[in-house]
Amino acid sequence: MIAPEVREALQRAVGDSVEFDADTSRLTSLRVGGPADALATPEDRPALARLLATCHAHRLRQRVIGRGFNMLIRDEGFDGVLIRLSRFRALEERPGPRIFAEAGVSHASLTRFCRDRGLSGLEYGAGIPGSLGGWIAMNAGIGPRETRDIVEEIEVIGPLGDEPRQIPRDALQFEYRALRGLEAGTVVVSALLEVKTATPDEVGAEVERLLAHRAATQPLDIPSCGSVFKNPPGGFAGQLIEAAGLKGSQRGGVMISPVHANFIVNTRVGSGACADDVLTLIERARTEVERSSGIRLETEVQILGRTHS
Ligand SMILES: Cc1cc2nc3c(=O)[nH]c(=O)nc-3n(C[C@H](O)[C@H](O)[C@H](O)COP(=O)(O)OP(=O)(O)OC[C@H]3O[C@@H](n4cnc5c(N)ncnc54)[C@H](O)[C@@H]3O)c2cc1C
Repeated sequence: MIAPEVREALQRAVGDSVEFDADTSRLTSLRVGGPADALATPEDRPALARLLATCHAHRLRQRVIGRGFNMLIRDEGFDGVLIRLSRFRALEERPGPRIFAEAGVSHASLTRFCRDRGLSGLEYGAGIPGSLGGWIAMNAGIGPRETRDIVEEIEVIGPLGDEPRQIPRDALQFEYRALRGLEAGTVVVSALLEVKTATPDEVGAEVERLLAHRAATQPLDIPSCGSVFKNPPGGFAGQLIEAAGLKGSQRGGVMISPVHANFIVNTRVGSGACADDVLTLIERARTEVERSSGIRLETEVQILGRTHS
């Protein structure tokens, strides 16, 4: 619960673009989760900087939520300010060729933009749902292709709400499904992406090939957060979960997908599935895999809750 004077400070920072006690189940692809104390959607960089400065001054937790394709918010909710960059949507071709894109640009817009202009390099991301900010923060990828391969520099605003600054590729510490080395609470605002010239047909064909492969191997017609666990070195989390006999395992309204064991799917959107069910299946999978293989799986999905229940 945010005190009235702090609510006013947040409203001074971003005007009407803040909602209190916001339902978060509509913000994540798993469609579960409790309320956030506040949800702010700043309209531009100055508003975002004011918002971050206000959070810092009032010791409010803050966290960016992209398009919520890899986030799980606990049923108890999030005791802080969720920040959405859905109004950061600039997308331009630059000489090089390069692409300048703001963090709120969706994977679908990026893919369409590249296909229409015959710009190659981002095809791998066609089936990785999310925003550019989420791709960068997660170093999203498939097989050997990762977001780090295309990022030339990023623009960030630090947690104190300071001036935007650019960070070049060499200074970024991308790891498997993570970007490390930025001060906690730093917000990625935009990026410059390196691409190559191709033809729309070439880009389109590669996108279609990758999407077809996904459709054949992943449960895409039902809400999920994609891979729940990171792959352990030299192995695949999905294979370990399947080998532990957990495909199809259920709890309440959620299930370990019979199609791909590293996906937990919500079979009862809006009628009873909850974050606690997902967390229970996560623990079940972790325990059973550790028992059968000795490997302790680490979650890829970003789990948010309250600091004090
Ligand atoms: C069906 C399906 C398939 C998927 N397949 C893949 C796959 O093949 N490969 C893969 O890597 N992932 C995959 N995912 C997971 C997901 O698509 C990626 O992690 C994606 O990058 C999430 O983007 P998002 O905008 O939804 O980020 P969110 O899920 O909203 O956020 C993820 C993390 O990024 C942080 N973040 C987001 N934006 C910013 C920002 N602007 N500044 C700072 N931090 C930020 C958040 O705080 C959070 O910690 C899949 C998900 C689904 C549902």
